[in-house]
Amino acid sequence: MRWEELTGDIFPKAIEEAEGVCLLPLSCIERHGHHLPLGTDMYIGRALCDRAAALEPAIVFPDLVFTQILEARHVPGCIGIEPELILRLLENACREIARNGLKKIAIVNAHGGNDDLIHYFARTQLASPRDYVVYVTDPSYKLERELENGPRWDTKVDGHAGECETSAILAVRPDLVRAEALRPDEEGLPLGRLKALRDLGVDLGIWWYADHPTHYRGDGSFGGAEKGELWLSACAGALARAVRAIKDDGESGRLQAEFFAKTRRPE
Ligand SMILES: [Zn+2]
Repeated sequence: MRWEELTGDIFPKAIEEAEGVCLLPLSCIERHGHHLPLGTDMYIGRALCDRAAALEPAIVFPDLVFTQILEARHVPGCIGIEPELILRLLENACREIARNGLKKIAIVNAHGGNDDLIHYFARTQLASPRDYVVYVTDPSYKLERELENGPRWDTKVDGHAGECETSAILAVRPDLVRAEALRPDEEGLPLGRLKALRDLGVDLGIWWYADHPTHYRGDGSFGGAEKGELWLSACAGALARAVRAIKDDGESGRLQAEFFAKTRRPE
């Protein structure tokens, strides 16, 4: 059930059907090589949520595309929002979801650049009392079960506009893939310009630019719609299982309330 497609009249009934669970798809608008649309992550996040909600009913929040993507601001089309505003926007979105009666919010992230942000955001939930719980899901978690029927990937290096994302977009929006723009070269391989530091576990903000200045990692020419379908189905299956567990979870909310009560007077 997509939030924006419901009427105000049927919204309360939809909350009941969703058992109070809202999926919050996070993505961004950024370059995806020469051949995929700027909204690649948005389309993938939307497909994952819609498919999971079809398996295990949940209300899907409108695509939240204003997230962490400062590292693509040097290439055309990127929408890079200020860091502080991203956190405030996320917090505000969650409060609005909860105010509307959905007290279990499951973040579904479709953009790798948000990986650290969403786990930090989960920690910030302890800053002040609230009557809802934020869960951070990982749709690809323990995929083995589904992957018996999943895709067999042909490339070793992947991660951005490569085989996987190209396959997913070929499955959901083939009209947006510019296959003729794919180039038979090694542009999608990491340049390794900060390899010496990275190999020693040293992290820094410029690393993605150092490796992938054109925002391409992998080889999209190996993409295929059938692989994309299999991958999306497998991830949606994993996500639906997590949604079921979130519905069954009463402990997180109870512990959170207990914790906030204790923070008022630490013992
Ligand atoms: Zn992407």
